[in-house]
Amino acid sequence: MRVLLTGGTGYIGSHTAVALIDAGHQVTLLDNFANSKPTVLDRLSEITGVTMDFFEADVTDREAIDSVLAHRAFDAAIHFAAPKAVGESIARPLHYFNNGVGGTVTLLQAMDRRGIRNVVYSSSATVYGMSDELPFREDAPTEVINPYGRTKLMCEEILRDLRQSDERWNSIALRYFNPVGAHPSGLIGEDPQGVPANLMPFVAQVAVGRLPVLRIFGDDYPTPDGTGVRDYIHVMDLAEGHVAAVEHLATEPGHDVINLGTGNGISVLELVEAFERVAGVPIPTEVVGRRRGDGPASWADATKAGDVLGWTARRSLDEMVADAWRWQSQNPNGYPD
Ligand code: NAD
Ligand code: UDP
Repeated sequence: MRVLLTGGTGYIGSHTAVALIDAGHQVTLLDNFANSKPTVLDRLSEITGVTMDFFEADVTDREAIDSVLAHRAFDAAIHFAAPKAVGESIARPLHYFNNGVGGTVTLLQAMDRRGIRNVVYSSSATVYGMSDELPFREDAPTEVINPYGRTKLMCEEILRDLRQSDERWNSIALRYFNPVGAHPSGLIGEDPQGVPANLMPFVAQVAVGRLPVLRIFGDDYPTPDGTGVRDYIHVMDLAEGHVAAVEHLATEPGHDVINLGTGNGISVLELVEAFERVAGVPIPTEVVGRRRGDGPASWADATKAGDVLGWTARRSLDEMVADAWRWQSQNPNGYPD
């Protein structure tokens, strides 16, 4: 298959490009570099031995997307391109609706014009909101508490409506839990701009000496050790989940929503302990108050992905940490410009 990856030079897109090539597919990457760097393309070629087919374009730009789709015979698209910072989405909702929702509509319209009607969409476990009915199953009620989450839910609903209006459309919305880690080569990984908002890249930057101390946001949650619990999933497992989803679309028509998680909850303290043990580096911590908007715990019921896609996460927490650490220690300042 030839697959278009919008947001293909980003964190999850770049790892998915490797997994697709490993599985024998051809990929074309599209990105506007809003949150990634061109160096990723060289690193991907180094890993795969394949020169990357790349278009610099914005998914909100109708003419640019039409032109990309006219240049290749795509079988499917995986749509990653969107901004993803919750706090920024509250400050700049129109930016999020324009890129997250408007960009998705622009892409789908362009695909429709060319008769390409298979799409995998990057959704998020954030659509489950703060419910304490764990684990989260795909049929649980959804609840969005910020504009970012709303863009994800709106796009899921757009895909569902599209299928209802026209049975030629096939789509899977993948609800990611907490992607972490990196490709085992250490050549590609997560490269947040500024101070990381997420736990694993923050811990990795403390380990490498870029940041002095990890602030633990609350140790009084109703969890076994009082710290927040999340379902961390190795980004290569997540990437392979996309391969399974795009292959599934080719043979099984329809619309579906599927969790990509491990089904295991890990606390902040457990993750820090694993990092110290695997990397052999002490992580100074201090406990501070809870972060606004955080829930106590979130983990997936991962059975549907196994049943429908034949995919389950295989990599352990220690592998997530080892690969995050290899990427961070080999690239202490992230990708070069
Ligand atoms: P990322 O920022 O690393 O990758 C997104 C890529 O999209 C970037 O390279 C960025 O430059 C590009 N992009 C953004 N807006 C664009 C536009 N208008 N046109 C073209 N390219 C554009 O983020 P990621 O972690 O790889 O996330 C990928 C997708 O998965 C996003 O939709 C995100 O919301 C979703 N997601 C991520 C997580 C996570 O924890 N990383 C969790 C759930 C869902
Ligand atoms: N967390 C923390 N310190 C940090 C970043 C995160 O204690 O500097 C905690 C956070 O409160 C949550 C967990 O780590 O319990 C995972 O946070 P992350 O932002 O990575 O994921 P999300 O909360 O979006 O699922």
